[in-house]
Amino acid sequence: MGDHERRDEQFLATLDIVREAGDPQWWLYLGRCHLCGQHWLVAQEERIYDEHLLARLAPSQTNDIRTIGHWPDIFTTYEAVLTVARQLSHPGFFMEAMADPLFCTVEDLRRERPEISGEEMARLLGVSQGHMRKLLAKTASRPVEHRLKRLLSWLGVG
Ligand SMILES: [Zn+2]
Repeated sequence: MGDHERRDEQFLATLDIVREAGDPQWWLYLGRCHLCGQHWLVAQEERIYDEHLLARLAPSQTNDIRTIGHWPDIFTTYEAVLTVARQLSHPGFFMEAMADPLFCTVEDLRRERPEISGEEMARLLGVSQGHMRKLLAKTASRPVEHRLKRLLSWLGVG
């Protein structure tokens, strides 16, 4: 969804959260419209684009989520979410060049696909190559404590 902020809000107001995918896919949930009963796959991208990405689900897909926990193969990685958001929307502008959402996103993208390039990440985050180089340099020297905390919460320990 996009530029019609009020339409987004109106739509989301009709949506009940049926099930959350949970870590590591903290952005993903199954929603149901309480007016018409339609189920939606929702990716809530709140770091870079601040958008809700929606895919209408067929009854069989909804059933697979509810009965065997099998989620459709869209929005399953944060890279996929950002790729779609990038096509439909505009990245936010960060007043703070070293803002935490940027770091966390770099970490998530690398966890999912360690060989992802700085160039690819810069495009997904909507930052310049120079900005990305600074982020990567700073990522390397981030406090171990912070990374450990994230690792633990990812493992469900923290
Ligand atoms: Zn509806």
